[in-house]
Amino acid sequence: MDKKIAIVTGAARGIGKAISQQLIEDGFFVLAIDMAPIEWHKSGELYDYQLDLCDQTAVEKTVEEINERFHGVDVLVNNAGITRDAMLGEMLSSDWDMVLDVNLKAVFMLTQQVSKLMLQKGEGSIINISSIVGTDGNIGQTNYAASKGGVISMSKGWAKELARKGAQIRVNCVAPGFISTEMTNELPEKVIAFMEGKTPLGRMGSAQDIADGVAFLASDKSKFITGQVLKIDGGLVL
Ligand code: NAD
Repeated sequence: MDKKIAIVTGAARGIGKAISQQLIEDGFFVLAIDMAPIEWHKSGELYDYQLDLCDQTAVEKTVEEINERFHGVDVLVNNAGITRDAMLGEMLSSDWDMVLDVNLKAVFMLTQQVSKLMLQKGEGSIINISSIVGTDGNIGQTNYAASKGGVISMSKGWAKELARKGAQIRVNCVAPGFISTEMTNELPEKVIAFMEGKTPLGRMGSAQDIADGVAFLASDKSKFITGQVLKIDGGLVL
């Protein structure tokens, strides 16, 4: 395989699909991970792995398989994420656990395995999809804010830890604002209009807006950038 290898999680739809398509266009061979089947790709374009990222045994087995087949990983995009919103007083502890498991613990588990391969190579780029809710909080998103804030601080720690002994392993976050995907399309029209009104650039972002930022952080054009949070939000949080 002469192409660079990029793992993208949550690749079946939305932002993960756009990231995968952009990285394929940029010359990467993409390994797409999702619980759902990847229905959008043409055969030969990527490899897909259908698994629950919260299943530690499945994650470890998948990374082992990837290493046997592809001998390393150049880019890891931790994109899979969920919401289970409720006001603080009503939030179920099961919803707290579920959001923290998918958005934070699963990112730790996959990165733990993949970073070992990057350390063997001495290089790599890890991009974690956080959210402006992780930097600035939001009403009704206690669990989501905690998980996405955790992703940012974890990433900054990894940016320091994984670059020791000269390794060129970079770790950055992308923090999307309000982006049009299946996740947000479920929101009432009124909420969408309100959020667009609050965004200086006057619209929801597209999945492609996020994919463009991720592609930059995956490429050598960002080779001296690590430990950063790139907000892509049309100016929503200023
Ligand atoms: P989405 O719901 O459209 O897609 C998420 C994908 O992740 C789905 O294909 C789903 O099957 C997969 N997934 C979820 N849990 C999984 C698990 N345990 N194992 C394997 N796959 C799993 O979401 P999206 O809007 O494309 O969001 C992608 C990322 O961007 C998420 O991390 C989200 O929190 C973040 N984000 C989105 C927005 C937005 O406005 N859409 C804003 C800020 C941040």
